[in-house]
Amino acid sequence: MVIEKIKESRFTPDVFDITTFGTAFADHMLLSWYKDGKWSEPIIKPYGKLDFTPAISVGHYGQGIFEGMKAYKGETGDVYLFRPDKNLERLNKSAERLDMPQIPEEIFMDGLKALIDLDRQWVPSTYGMSLYLRPVMFATEEAITARSSNEYLFAILTAVAPNYYNKPLSVKVADRYSRAANGGVGFAKAAGNYAGSFYPTHLAREEGYDQVIWTDDATHTFIEEAGTMNVFVRINDKLITAPTSERILDGVTRRSMIELAKAEGIDVEVRKVTVEEMHTAHKNGQLKEVFGVGTAVVVNNYVAVGYASERLELEDLPETESYGKILKKKLVDLQMGISEDPFGWRL
Ligand code: PMP
Repeated sequence: MVIEKIKESRFTPDVFDITTFGTAFADHMLLSWYKDGKWSEPIIKPYGKLDFTPAISVGHYGQGIFEGMKAYKGETGDVYLFRPDKNLERLNKSAERLDMPQIPEEIFMDGLKALIDLDRQWVPSTYGMSLYLRPVMFATEEAITARSSNEYLFAILTAVAPNYYNKPLSVKVADRYSRAANGGVGFAKAAGNYAGSFYPTHLAREEGYDQVIWTDDATHTFIEEAGTMNVFVRINDKLITAPTSERILDGVTRRSMIELAKAEGIDVEVRKVTVEEMHTAHKNGQLKEVFGVGTAVVVNNYVAVGYASERLELEDLPETESYGKILKKKLVDLQMGISEDPFGWRL
């Protein structure tokens, strides 16, 4: 790996005061180019612009995939990654589905470690804050032919993450638009999945909601995901989340929450859950919580769920009673090195 260090760091302590996600990029980035069937030796260099023409293939046909993960700084100053192997696995699943080359483990893992080491001072140590890591791969061939590109760029960017979505969110159940369909790319972290979700999200915002709860495309009966999060529904003391499928992103946070909840003795069911079941539970006073989980937000307890013309208001349970809040603390404590890591998730 070639390392070209920045001459003078752009770091100032006030970068940690940011409130917007994904705009405060750290000093360095990693790049590796795929050409003639192989990846170039990765280079770490100062974060900055690249040189492309408007013929770059990704801009026309959307062969673009990415990952999202975080680096946390513990009290001792150690920096931890959380289950990065799962992100690599998912990136390569996305790559296969989008007919893109696989990323070798050394480029991904050694690249992440080297970047974090160089930009250590950009990792905040405030509880719940982190440096967000964004591995991304896209088609760079200068050709507007509708076929898989022969050339790609793999990059890792890092950006300071505030306590993203810490504000309570309300979500609208999708009854018209869909995020994914069977046989499609829903399980992949493909750029186009996000592009297709922005317009329905925009419409939900006009109705006073922050995000969309995606339902199955065929019948809009089953709850699948919310925005960029997997969803948990708590009915009485049962925590229910949909099984992953070819339409649902296999979230690292979701997997971890299921295991943490089981370890806490919480009754977790991985099964399909219908919008109607959630609605009925609300009517009967049994819908205790609905929350989204994902790397960026960790856990966000929703304050309301919009269903057809109804707005189902949810109670804001205290820290000691809310499964979402209890599990969020367990997970962040583990990620930040505050608690033991019986699962071996911290790296
Ligand atoms: N679903 C979607 C559509 C997402 O974009 C994300 C964020 N990666 C998630 C779920 C949660 O996945 P993870 O816990 O791995 O961040």
